[in-house]
Amino acid sequence: MIRSDEFYMHRALDQAHLASAEGEVPVGAVVVDALGTIIGVGRNSPVASCDPSGHAEIRALREAGQQLGNYRLEGCTLFVTLEPCMMCTGAMVHARLTRLVYGAPEPRTGMVESKANLLAQPWFNHQVAVTSGVLAVPAKKLLKQFFATKR
Ligand SMILES: [Zn+2]
Repeated sequence: MIRSDEFYMHRALDQAHLASAEGEVPVGAVVVDALGTIIGVGRNSPVASCDPSGHAEIRALREAGQQLGNYRLEGCTLFVTLEPCMMCTGAMVHARLTRLVYGAPEPRTGMVESKANLLAQPWFNHQVAVTSGVLAVPAKKLLKQFFATKR
């Protein structure tokens, strides 16, 4: 059963809350297959996992690949609370992801609208459809609260 973008983004926000509780920058993601089933979840964890690629999106994409038994995630949608970075947009192209939905823009490192649009380059023969701004307010608020406690 395919649910609303907001429904899946709430699941991504749940992951972001978990990251925050673990002292990681609160970003969360889920991957949903063509039938609307969540097949991958991820939260930001570079500190705990000592992994520079430990972003929420990468973790969710990895789990989805394992679930499908395929590195190509055709028909799948990735929901993430924050605009993805260059590494994560690259991984989405490698995965042949069908659609990306994200919440808040990331003015410093966002590579979908803020600094560049890496997903709309003519040299990629794969195009990812994008929807932005879904539950951006709670996603941004969570980040603000997290950084406020760090200062
Ligand atoms: Zn990233």
